[in-house]
Formats: sequence, structure tokens, C-alpha cells
Amino acid sequence: MLKENLENILKRIQITAINCDGNAESVRLVAVTKTVPAHRVKDAIEAGATIFGESYVQEARDKIRELSAYAVSWHFIGTLQSNKAKYVVKLFDLIHSVDSVKLAMEINKQAEKIGKIQDILIQVNVAGEPQKSGISSVKTLEMLKAVSKFENISVKGLMTMPPYFNDPERARPFFKQLRQLRNKLQKELSDLSSAGHIRLDELSMGMTGDFEAAIHEGATLVRIGTAIFGERV
Ligand SMILES: *Cc1c(COP(=O)(O)O)cnc(C)c1O
Repeated sequence: MLKENLENILKRIQITAINCDGNAESVRLVAVTKTVPAHRVKDAIEAGATIFGESYVQEARDKIRELSAYAVSWHFIGTLQSNKAKYVVKLFDLIHSVDSVKLAMEINKQAEKIGKIQDILIQVNVAGEPQKSGISSVKTLEMLKAVSKFENISVKGLMTMPPYFNDPERARPFFKQLRQLRNKLQKELSDLSSAGHIRLDELSMGMTGDFEAAIHEGATLVRIGTAIFGERV
């Protein structure tokens, strides 16, 4: 079941990517394993998944330890409190959910302690939903300028979670807004000598219900849980 689900999703990602830019490799799957037990993550590794997304620090810590024999990549996608930054920096290759200078500063400090350059994405609340994490679009340039001074952080791109809709076409304008914001920021940053090195290649957007729409709008990382592992319990 899991194997078929995974193969089916990988195929859909590839076909959509080829239709968009002719390149099957332009989009990578982050298999979201929050609440999924380690033995099922192991099955997914054996079926070919290579990047895993986790949302809860304690749960991820145990799982990553249990699966440490496998050369896979772990991404942190959940809401992150500054006091947990220490653990996240130790465990994860990419943090998708950085949404304040304060949090970035703490990540930088922890990364410096262990001699790591931590890759991050800036999470943007494109729709401006009050209950959601993410920095507002209008504040992203200012945040990037500040974060560009942190020597132990490398900003790789942007992430968003649009409002939930049954129809993925309704999420699409928000994906498009994230891409347009990225393009605008790239231009603005290239004019700044202090931040000209930030490239923002990655766009993390799209989940089970809407990843194809996200790929059409330029996603490079799609975060998919339910379609691979089934409904979370
Ligand atoms: C849980 C989660 C996902 C995966 O959602 P599915 O609908 O199960 O594919 C993606 N991104 C984030 C940030 C999540 O928390």
C-alpha cells in the first residue's frame, strides 16, 4: 500500500514537473511523517523516499535516532519556538518554518555553537490569516536583510501554507503570490551588496490536496503526508 502510494505520488510529481518545465527533477518530495511511527518511515525509505518532514521536535528526535543508519534527509516543517532551536539545528538539514528575525537569531547562535551553516526557508503567511504562522509578505525584505547578516544561516527560499480549500484551484493564487514575492525579493536583494548572495531558489508549497497546483506555480519542494501514509491518527 505505502509503496504503491509513494510510487503513485512520485509519478504524479514527475509528470506535472515535466508538463511545467520539461524537467522531471525540478521538484523534490518531502514525505511528511509527523505521527507516523518509525517502522513505517523505514518502509518508506526502503520504497525510495529520501527526504522526510517532521513537525514536532520530541517525536522527530526519537525517530531520527531510531533511523540513524539510513542516509536520508530530515526537514523541520512545524512551528518552531526559539527554545527548541538548539535541537532542531542538530537534527535537521533544512528548516522550512522560520518566520521571525528573533527565531533566526537563535538558530544562528545554535548553528555557530556546533560549527554548522544551517539552511532555512522563510515561512510567509501569504493570505495574512491571523491564526497562522508565517511572516507577512510586506515584512519579508526587511527580515531577509537582517538574516543575511547571520553567518551561520543560509536562506534557500520561501515556504507557505495557503488557506485550506476543497478545490486546489482556489489555493493556486496563493502559490502564485509566493512565487511573485520570491521573484521580487530576488531583484531587490541582488541590488544590495550585503544580501546579494541570497538566491531563494526553493519554493516549499503544496500538500496532499493541492501539490499539482503548487508545482504549476513553481514549487520545488512539495510536502506530502496523507497521500502516502493515509490519514493521520
Ligand atoms: C502535515 C503537514 C503537511 C502534510 O499535509 P498532508 O495534507 O497530509 O499532505 C505539509 N506541510 C505542513 C507544514 C504540515 O504540517
